[in-house]
Amino acid sequence: MVEDKELEVNESDNKGLNFVEQIVADDLKEGKNGGRLNTRFPPEPNGYLHIGHAKAICMDFGVAEKFGGTCNLRFDDTNPVKEDVEYVDSIKEDIKWLGFDWADREYYASDYFPQLFELAVRLIKEGKAYVDDQTSEEIAAQKGTPTTPGTESPYRNRTPEENLDLFMRMNAGEFEEGSRVLRAKIDMASSNMHFRDPIMYRIIKHPHHRTGTTWKVYPMYDFAHGQSDYFEGVTHSICTLEFVPHRPLYDYFVDELADETYRPRQIEFNRLNLTYTVMSKRKLLQLVKEGLVAGWDDPRMPTISGMRRRGFTPASIRNFIDRIGYTKYEALNSVSLLEHAVREDLNKISTRVMAVMNPVKLVITNYPEDQVEMVEMENNPEQENSGTHKMPFSREIFIEREDFMENPPKKFFRLAPGNEVRLKGAYIIKCQDCVKDANGNITEIHCTYDPDTRSGLPGSARKVKGTLHWVSAAHAVDATARIYDRLFNVENPSAEPDRDFREMLNPDSLKVVENIKIEPFVAENASPGMNFQFQRIGYFTPDKDSTPGNLIFNRTIALKDSWEKEQKK
Ligand code: ATP
Ligand code: MG
Repeated sequence: MVEDKELEVNESDNKGLNFVEQIVADDLKEGKNGGRLNTRFPPEPNGYLHIGHAKAICMDFGVAEKFGGTCNLRFDDTNPVKEDVEYVDSIKEDIKWLGFDWADREYYASDYFPQLFELAVRLIKEGKAYVDDQTSEEIAAQKGTPTTPGTESPYRNRTPEENLDLFMRMNAGEFEEGSRVLRAKIDMASSNMHFRDPIMYRIIKHPHHRTGTTWKVYPMYDFAHGQSDYFEGVTHSICTLEFVPHRPLYDYFVDELADETYRPRQIEFNRLNLTYTVMSKRKLLQLVKEGLVAGWDDPRMPTISGMRRRGFTPASIRNFIDRIGYTKYEALNSVSLLEHAVREDLNKISTRVMAVMNPVKLVITNYPEDQVEMVEMENNPEQENSGTHKMPFSREIFIEREDFMENPPKKFFRLAPGNEVRLKGAYIIKCQDCVKDANGNITEIHCTYDPDTRSGLPGSARKVKGTLHWVSAAHAVDATARIYDRLFNVENPSAEPDRDFREMLNPDSLKVVENIKIEPFVAENASPGMNFQFQRIGYFTPDKDSTPGNLIFNRTIALKDSWEKEQKK
């Protein structure tokens, strides 16, 4: 009977599950925890979320969604010195933006401070915890090494009465920070270093953003996390691999609370590490505080808010995370994989428009001086029913300086004296000559147009090798583009322990291009969160710093020039 069941599980239900989902499926099948599934995402509100957190969010919320369970949002707010409501708010915004919902299950580890304190008191009374008067340096020196046992503290054998008295006074504020800690009395010779009398509570006198000055002692992660999971009814506590050695301690404290009917279970997966960036919140905070970036949401940051401002979409981030998957091995993922996912999504959703980054004027000498035609531009060839918009065409236009060469090499199919090109969506033009200033810089290109080649007219089928983007000079709107490159110029900055990570910052990670020319449709419709494809250039999104008189666009990502490829055929 049992064998049949296993076969059934393996053959049908569990196809395509990652290893965490497999564990969850098995637990549900076995009816553990009364068949309940409850996960949690436990950010510490000491910084903004980054793409690594997105991986954890997709796992925690994703597995709950997949099996009909629930996922709690729990702020792990056990260190009041580093935490702030600004971070709480940004975290909530980012999770929602990614497309996940914790409904009314918003919890805080600080909600459990009373129960945790009560448990600590119980452990003291049972002789399982003691107050140590040593400094953290002394305690660290006694820890031993993985191969040699640690040394017992001289305060280890205090009586429960004395320990209780001291712990109460610690919490009453009688002692200075760092002067005493509460430790679990477990085993200084354990082969697991985390079992060598771990610290449960330390004294912190900084007010807490939720509990104010109620507490003067705060629980350590290891004494808070498993129990918080338990108090909340969490069944699967999914975290990253660095917590593997903490798991026995997680279980040790949970054992003090749990019975046979329910206990949370910790499962670990590999962190997300990305090339050319750092993921440590401490380092990211440093970049922000030292003004090396323009804030947590600087579009070069690996933060979710930075990626949002840069124009990345939730779908692209989720697709990327799906593709890299969840394993038990640490890896470094290539940022190009993320960029590929971004291009893929933006190609599907972004509105095609014209913008000229490095403009030079082009005059169509045989086009009537006061005439303006509205030509029709497709909004998105990848999307049915995305419609069209109108764009003005006139005698004077701007094209990219790079699209003209006076003395071109052989296979230059763009504009050169005597050459013909198509202006995308409009006419075929032929270059006659160009005008230069005293320094030899080209100031104007002179062309003639073939009136018969506009789309819809008989001559429109005529083939030329190059197609250029353009904007009407009189109608174009000036704007600023911010062009981003990798924040670091070293593939894995975290793997260079001897160098200050700030030395590895890419000095060219931001280039500002002023006076680009955009078609009026973009200026009229731009608002943050919109995705445009500037044709032949890249994907752009309006930045929040834009004002009606000064439009600013972030380049989300460059475009592979597909038109150029076609021209080479
Ligand atoms: P800290 O050093 O401040 O603890 P942290 O990056 O671990 O930094 P948390 O707020 O504690 O930040 O993380 C919340 C959750 O996100 C944890 O479950 C953690 O395991 C997970 N997480 C953090 N960084 C990554 C990452 N790079 N990849 C996957 N998951 C991550
Ligand atoms: Mg952490």
